[in-house]
Amino acid sequence: MNPELLLSRIRVVLCRPSHPGNIGAAARAMKTMGLSNLYLVAPKQFPDPEADTRATGAVDVLQAAKITETLSEALVGTVFAVALSARQRDLGPSIGAPRETVARLLQEAGEGDVALVFGNETMGLTNDEIFHCQAAVTIPTNPDFSSLNLGSAVQVLCYECRMSAFAEKPPVVAQGVTPFTSPVATNDEVEGFFGHLESVMITTGFYNPLQPGRLMPKIRRLFGRVRLEKDEVNILRGVLASTQVKTGYGRKE
Ligand code: SAH
Repeated sequence: MNPELLLSRIRVVLCRPSHPGNIGAAARAMKTMGLSNLYLVAPKQFPDPEADTRATGAVDVLQAAKITETLSEALVGTVFAVALSARQRDLGPSIGAPRETVARLLQEAGEGDVALVFGNETMGLTNDEIFHCQAAVTIPTNPDFSSLNLGSAVQVLCYECRMSAFAEKPPVVAQGVTPFTSPVATNDEVEGFFGHLESVMITTGFYNPLQPGRLMPKIRRLFGRVRLEKDEVNILRGVLASTQVKTGYGRKE
């Protein structure tokens, strides 16, 4: 696929950024590498003159930025999301290196929009935000000083995206057989399945939302390891709906 088209399918999502200057720096980092889809989840201060100043010639990226209340909203329509985190989290997707993970991200971008998800300057990403991603990346650093400035972290990943998108790809050899394919499910379709499963588990009594434990993060981790296809989500939801019909349980959604 055309490298520019691939890059246009990558969303850079900044979760709860505190400093408008970092938003501007991220926009500049993106534009230098040919990315333009900026998503801001509940930014503390935006728009702001400091953001424009730090963006310099990338004010157009800021002006086109989409602002959402939650990470889920920023991921609607995406087929793959990568969390950027300096630390491995319990139950989070296992951490990969930027180069390998970006290669996977671009492969997924062949299917639809994908996302790089960055955390807040002080707190990083919350566990819940990480659980919305199917892969995680740590930028290798000095172990005694491992936290990059947000704009710098965006720059490193956007650079890797550009290098990877423009790297020569060997042509795919046709085997004469067309394997079965179904498009991959989007983030919101998978979220719909989680919501459906949760509601069925509540009505059957398997899951008590007042004592959630770590069930839902574990389920997210399980399904985060596979690339659910649209067909598969439909099958799983069909199974859930059939138990609801059979048992007469109500549905939450
Ligand atoms: N103090 C925070 C780090 C905040 S830096 C923490 O300990 O989590 C802001 C964001 O930049 C992080 O949430 C992450 O998305 C990204 N970032 C900074 N350094 C990084 C690194 N070494 N690897 C991956 N992401 C990094």
